[in-house]
Amino acid sequence: MGTYATVSVPAGEARELDRVATAAGGHFREMESSLSIFKPGSEISRLNDAAGIAAVTVSAPVEDVLRLSVHYSEITGGAFDPTVAPLVRFWGFNKGQLPAAVPDEAEVRAILAKVGYRNLVVSNGTAALATVGMGFDPGGIAKGYAVDVCFRAIGEETVRNLMINLGGNIRCRGEAEPGRPWCVGVRDPFSRDSVMGTIRLDDGMAVATSGNYEKQVVIGGKRYAHIIDPLTGWPVEGVASVTVIATNAVEADAMSTAVFVLGARAALPIISRMPGCHFMLVPDVRPAGIYLSPGAGEHFTLAPSATVIRDP
Ligand code: FAD
Ligand code: MG
Repeated sequence: MGTYATVSVPAGEARELDRVATAAGGHFREMESSLSIFKPGSEISRLNDAAGIAAVTVSAPVEDVLRLSVHYSEITGGAFDPTVAPLVRFWGFNKGQLPAAVPDEAEVRAILAKVGYRNLVVSNGTAALATVGMGFDPGGIAKGYAVDVCFRAIGEETVRNLMINLGGNIRCRGEAEPGRPWCVGVRDPFSRDSVMGTIRLDDGMAVATSGNYEKQVVIGGKRYAHIIDPLTGWPVEGVASVTVIATNAVEADAMSTAVFVLGARAALPIISRMPGCHFMLVPDVRPAGIYLSPGAGEHFTLAPSATVIRDP
């Protein structure tokens, strides 16, 4: 999936590590082969190729990803919307051609007309994109989904304590060591080597980060990041990174992308209705500061050098 995966177990369960790592690799490769838009003939590629033409049959996991995508699109008012695929390519990501100059509003509008999760129809083992030129991009949700699949498949009978990390989409079971919880750092988006703080992950919890530093293009001397606002068609500006903690990895993945689009103020009422879900947002303004949604502070320890933003 264009990234790295790691699995960790405590020293006491180290003898299981090879078996767990092999199993995780197998699950991730299987998910990638059905979900990737970079693999011609994958289920999602077939769905995209048949846009506006026909419904395609989909396997249970792919149907799951599509249904969850619609769910997160609905609850975020379309801030999360994987049917942004044509826009993602238009802006030069995912092997799309880089625009020679900053596009004008009319060009963006023309592509935007092909976007909308309401035109993705999922029913009983089939899926369809209603109009020609539409596309589904699983980039904002599928890694989280794959982590959950892997987490459930590698049961407690195999290892009691485990941390799975697929490109920053993380889910934990148990503890890192007896009496010491799993912890992950939240990277400073302006400095590869420093952290804004650490997150404590209790049993079963998940975390994901969306950052503007992950993938960028430069058009007319200006940088644009890979997360697109599906309501305007333009890459989101003003946010450097969003970290979401949640009770499962697919929610953390989808919501990190959604909160990146929404911004802290608009995200607050949505996140507050989601049990166990919290976010941390770093605006794209130096020096770096971090905003914590109510409840996020319970899991987060601020690094000495970092500053908290009180008003989103
Ligand atoms: P996230 O914030 O989790 O997701 C951002 C991504 O979601 C964007 O890159 C875009 O694809 C999409 N997106 C943008 N705006 C929105 C929005 N408003 N709502 C919903 N989604 C949005 N990369 C490669 O370089 N080569 C590969 O072969 C490759 N294969 C992949 C196969 C699979 C199955 C998956 C899931 C990903 C693959 N990737 C590959 C990576 C992919 O192209 C993205 O870069 C990656 O998923 C971005 O993840 P993230 O965690 O950085 O960001
Ligand atoms: Mg995401």
